[in-house]
Amino acid sequence: MDLLTTLVDKGLRRELPTRDEALAVLATQDDDLLDVVAAAGRVRRHWFGRRVKLNYLVNLKSGLCPEDCSYCSQRLGSTADILKYTWLKPDQAAAAASAGVSGGAKRVCLVASGRGPTDRDVDRVSQTIAAIKEQNEGVEVCACLGLLSGDQAERLRAAGADAYNHNLNTSESTYGDITTTHTYADRVDTVQQAQAAGLSACSGLIAGMGETDADLVDVVFGLRDLDPDSVPVNFLIPFEGTPLAKEWNLTPQRCLRILAMVRFVCPDVEVRLAGGREVHLRSMQPLALHLANSIFLGDYLTSEGQAGQADLDMIADAGFEVEGAGTVTLPEHRAAAGAGCGGHGGACGPLGAAHDVEAAAQGSGCGGHGSGCGTCEAPAERAADPGTGRTAEPAVEPVAEPVAEPVGAARTDLVAVRRRGAGTDLPPNA
Ligand code: SF4
Repeated sequence: MDLLTTLVDKGLRRELPTRDEALAVLATQDDDLLDVVAAAGRVRRHWFGRRVKLNYLVNLKSGLCPEDCSYCSQRLGSTADILKYTWLKPDQAAAAASAGVSGGAKRVCLVASGRGPTDRDVDRVSQTIAAIKEQNEGVEVCACLGLLSGDQAERLRAAGADAYNHNLNTSESTYGDITTTHTYADRVDTVQQAQAAGLSACSGLIAGMGETDADLVDVVFGLRDLDPDSVPVNFLIPFEGTPLAKEWNLTPQRCLRILAMVRFVCPDVEVRLAGGREVHLRSMQPLALHLANSIFLGDYLTSEGQAGQADLDMIADAGFEVEGAGTVTLPEHRAAAGAGCGGHGGACGPLGAAHDVEAAAQGSGCGGHGSGCGTCEAPAERAADPGTGRTAEPAVEPVAEPVAEPVGAARTDLVAVRRRGAGTDLPPNA
């Protein structure tokens, strides 16, 4: 396909595809799908080799959010039967983070539900960051606390945060259909505040919320304009008890096309396979590693992912390798450009530095869906959990073949509400 040859050439040169080219990727036929994956995989390997970065979610505060993000199980009015708890203490969060790090994660994503942090919350998170860094030398910490204001970004940076996650989630034109309590512009502003403070920006999207191909291209082009260091790609987990519970409209093939499009538009950026991968890609997850260079290890914020050991096995079986703590995630031109872990912001850098780790985060926070806030509903734990002895049983039952469920059907067989804290089988903060 001439299209794919063009896109590979552009990806290797970091040149932006046209909107029509991005749309054409989403419109490819199943017969061409492996060619699409192979082409985007060339771009992925050019910038990131066969490395897979592991990220670990710690849900600092779960549920009870006053915002109304339709995709979120923690939203105002959600009747999803999720765990609800207030702030984990620094030592609790550090213990959870250590479980992920011992499973191979190089980034810990600290997520809290809510519109945004108070100054007292920033103090609390600062203490948590210190506790995590004290126990896990060299680990990258990304905060995902919602909308920032005042000097909060600077304070988080000063406290040692390497990155900040805040997802755009969907296109500007459809944002009001998904959320009414804040705007797309609010989200853009927070990402820019994080960048200005020297934090590595992590910002991504959620696919599967009823958007059009044009919406998907719009949000990914919007992300490219913002130039985050990492882009989490979430696939909606339709929680019972949320307005989008009936939105089961993704197939594994569709997910792969979306990931390929994101890779072509953001060729040298950390593209993270985030919430919903087990639910929607199912047995096709390993193919997605040819497109994304980063995943969450274990569970998401309010739902269970597959066991961490299953993630590690999948990476090895597919011929990829877990990115080591001493490796800089981003290509040299991006890692040197800014600051953080990745690119611009700041902190992290190449190895060695005191706070160096890198930065992109997504998996997480508000905004995503993996969890709560926005970004990711991200998986948080259930990593390999070597310290806990947890077995590697998949939390999500494998499905023999893609099932196109009728609209309106609940898929409780696919969506498992998370009942445990990071690195433990006990509820957090019980
Ligand atoms: S995504 Fe974040 S801000 Fe929105 S409802 Fe969920 S926790 Fe609240």
